[in-house]
Parts: sequence; structure tokens; C-alpha cells
Amino acid sequence: MLFRQLFEPQSSAYTYLIACEDTRQAALIDPVLETVDRDLQLLRDLGLTLVYTIETHIHADHVTGAARLREVTGSKAAVPQKSGADHVDLPVREGEPIMVGGCRMHPLYTPGHADDHHCYYLDWPGASRVFTGDALLIDGCGRTDFQNGDSATLYRSVHDKIFALTDETLVYPGHDYQHRRVSSVGQERERNPRLGGGKTLDEFVALMAGLNLPRPKKMDIAVPANRECGEMG
Ligand code: FE
Repeated sequence: MLFRQLFEPQSSAYTYLIACEDTRQAALIDPVLETVDRDLQLLRDLGLTLVYTIETHIHADHVTGAARLREVTGSKAAVPQKSGADHVDLPVREGEPIMVGGCRMHPLYTPGHADDHHCYYLDWPGASRVFTGDALLIDGCGRTDFQNGDSATLYRSVHDKIFALTDETLVYPGHDYQHRRVSSVGQERERNPRLGGGKTLDEFVALMAGLNLPRPKKMDIAVPANRECGEMG
């Protein structure tokens, strides 16, 4: 398996490249429109064919690179079926793994940040990874105050689907605003100040209700564009 963690500074968003070394097939999880050229260059440098772009959810803070990448490479856009997005090539559902050559990505339905949200679990000997999107961040979690978000639902998603994985599973988040790159399920279960360390459902709901976050700057552009896989007009 080939793996790269890529960063887009405007939205502090991580994009992940996963590729099968035997077939040279690759997928990008949560590509960002602004960094499509960088991603295409990386694919060329590594001699990979992009077969899928995979979304964790309909993003409110950036536009996906899925449509642009599809135009250039012929990749298929894998998007949670629940999103109801248009121009989707592969509707994602839990229980239906996405194969990237020999790499099997398991979608885990994890609503709460958004009602279409899925994490992706990559089972790999010695280096299992879960791509947690905006459900679970390092020492944090995504907001739950729009896109049909719901804090009690997020609490259950994280506890039932992510904290149920083994301690050693590496946690790769969709964002980090302090340049942290990776955590583990054991560490987040024990130390995550919002969701870990035995925090109760009620404590979490109260904490999330008190956040009063500003609206994401790009929301009015990003959400409609992402509902079309990033096709802009
Ligand atoms: Fe999000």
C-alpha cells in the first residue's frame, strides 16, 4: 500500500491518497478543488491511476476536487448515498467496501456532524487506519449545528463505530487547525476532551450546545457545489 497525507491550508483540510502497489490503482479521500493540480502531479510522480475520489460527507468549508479530477483522469466519484448528491458514480453505503486494487476501504456510517457522514476504515496488517472526516478530530470533533447535525447522534457514532476499533488503529482526521497529523483510537478514546475519557452523552451535548461557532465563510458556495460533486455551474 502507498499512503500520503496532504494538506490544504485555506480550509486546513487533509486529503488522503491510498494506492495499491500491485495494480497502481489509487483513491483520494476528500480532495479539495484548490489542490487538484498538486494531486495530479503526485499521481503522475508515483505512477498511479486514480480510480476513485471518496467523500466523507458534503463539505461546508471547501469545494471538492472530485469533478475536476474526474474530468482529467476518468476517476469515479464515490459519495455517501445519503447525501442525495448528483453526478455520483458510486453511492457509498456501510457494508459495501470500496476496492482500490487490493486495498479494501470499509465505509462506516457516522452521522452527527452531517447526516450523510461516513468514515472509512482501511484494514491493513500492522497499520490499520480510520479516516474520520469531521466526525472525530484529534482532541476534538466536527461541529453539529448545521447540515442536519446532531450532537447526541455524533456521540453515538463515535462511540459505536470509531471507539469500537482497536487501540492501535491510526486516526486520520479531515481537518486539523494546529498541524497535528495523526492520532490513534486508543489515544482519542482516553484523552479526547469532548468525547473521550468517559465523557457522558449529556456532557457532550451540553458542551456542543455552548460552542456558538461562526458560519463557515465558503458555506454558500461549497454546499451547493458539493451537492453536484464539485461541478461549478
Ligand atoms: Fe465538514
